[in-house]
Amino acid sequence: FTAAELTAVRADFPLLGRTVRDGKPLVYLDSAATSQKPQVVLDTEVDFYEKRNAAVHRGAHALAEEATEAFERAREQVAALVGASAGEIVWVPGATAGINLVATGLQNATLGRGGAAGARFALGPGDEILITEAEHHSNLVPWQELAARTGATLRWIPVGQDGRLDLSALSAAPSGAGAPAGEVAPLINERTKVVAFAHVSNVTGAVAPVARIVAAARAVGALTVLDACQSVPHLPVDLPALEVDFAVFSGHKMLGPTGVGALYGRRELLEALPVVPTGGSMVEVVTMESTTFAPPPQKFEAGTQMVAQAVGMGAAADYLRELGMDKVAAHEAELAAELLRIAEIPGIRVIGPTTVGVLGAEAGPDAGLPDRVAAVSFVVDDVHAHDVGQVLDDQGIAVRVGHHCAQPLHRRFGIAATARASASVYTTLDEVIAFREALGGVRAFFGAE
Ligand code: PMP
Repeated sequence: FTAAELTAVRADFPLLGRTVRDGKPLVYLDSAATSQKPQVVLDTEVDFYEKRNAAVHRGAHALAEEATEAFERAREQVAALVGASAGEIVWVPGATAGINLVATGLQNATLGRGGAAGARFALGPGDEILITEAEHHSNLVPWQELAARTGATLRWIPVGQDGRLDLSALSAAPSGAGAPAGEVAPLINERTKVVAFAHVSNVTGAVAPVARIVAAARAVGALTVLDACQSVPHLPVDLPALEVDFAVFSGHKMLGPTGVGALYGRRELLEALPVVPTGGSMVEVVTMESTTFAPPPQKFEAGTQMVAQAVGMGAAADYLRELGMDKVAAHEAELAAELLRIAEIPGIRVIGPTTVGVLGAEAGPDAGLPDRVAAVSFVVDDVHAHDVGQVLDDQGIAVRVGHHCAQPLHRRFGIAATARASASVYTTLDEVIAFREALGGVRAFFGAE
C-alpha cells in the first residue's frame, strides 16, 4: 500500500480510532484471533436488518425473496475470493463447525449413511488419518474423535526446530513399493484416507507447501482438508488451483462477522458426502419414515441460516478483493519482516520462521507468495507470557498470550505459552515499531536484566 492507501484503509475501521487504558491509542496486534471490521461490513449487516430481514429459501413474500437474493449473492462474493463457484461454498457457523461437518460426514459414511456414493469416505481399522503437529485444536480434536469412532489411526507430520513442517518422511520414493520390512511406513501411504492440515499456522505463521502435500495425498487417493483460517485473510488463495478437496475459513478472521464461516468442497464430493447436520431446510421430500435431501450446498444447511452474518462476510470478501490480495500480502510481508526484528532484542526467542522468504516454484500455484505471514509468537526469557501481555496492554498494545489452541505445538517446543503479535490489512509499520519498543522494556520492567 502507499501511505495514502493505508490511511484510507484505517479510516474504514471505526474501532481502530479508539483509545484504551486511560487514553492510549489502541495498537491492535491480535488479528489472528479475530480481525476488526470495516464500516462496509457493519453497514451491510445493519442494512440487512433494517431493510431485508427475513428467513431465506422459504416464504413467498417480497422480503423473503430479497433476503434470499442477498444470502446467495454473499455466497458468490465469498466464492470469488477463493476462486471457487458458489455451489461449492457451504455456510457454516465457523471453521471449527466446518471441520466437524466433514469429520462427522466421514463418520456417517462409515456407518453406511452415504449409500454407494458415500462408500468412498468410509474409514476403518488399519486406515490412517494424517494431520500435523502444528494444528489448531479445531483441526486436531475432530480427527482424534473420528479416529476413535472408526478405529482408524491418527498420524501427524512433525514440526522442525525452524517451525516448518518436516516433510522428510512424507512419502515413499517414487520407485519404492512401500516401506522395507521393519521400517515405519511413510506418513502418506496406501492406508492414508484423509490428510488435514493448516495452510498457515496460527502460532508460527509458517505457510505450508500445500501443492506438495496435496500431490502426495492425491497419489494415494486420500482426501485433503485444508484449514485456510489464517491464509484467506492474508494471501491470495485459489482453492481449486490448490486442488484441495475441502477447505474451511471463518468470517471473523477475514474482516467479517462472527457466527459465520465457509466450507469449500469440490462439487462431486459435496454431492457424495452424507448429510450433517440434519433438520429443516436441507430436505426435498420428508415422510414419517425417511427423507430425500436437497442438492449441495443446501443439503448441509439445516435450520434457519445466519443470513445477516453471511451477508456481512460477503461484504468483507468484496472489501478484500477490492484492496487486492496481492497488495494485502505484500503489505503484510513488510509488517512480518518488521515484527520479526523483535528477535534482535536480548532475551526474546521467536517460535517459528525468523525470516520472510518467498515460496519457490515447487510450491505450484502459490509460487512467489510469502512463506510466512505476519503472526509472530515469541517467548521472553524469565518472564511469563501472561506478564508480557499485561505490560504491553498497559501501553495500549493488544497481543494474545497462551497456547493459542495449539498445545501439542507448544509442547513440541518445550514451552507452555507464548505471546503472539499478529497483523492485518490495517496494521501500520509505526504500530509494529511501537510494539517492538514496548517489548524492549519488558525484561527490564521485571528486573530480568
Ligand atoms: N484453525 C486455525 C488455524 C485458527 O487460527 C482458528 C481460530 N483461531 C481456527 C481453526 C478455528 O476457527 P473458529 O474459532 O473461527 O472456528
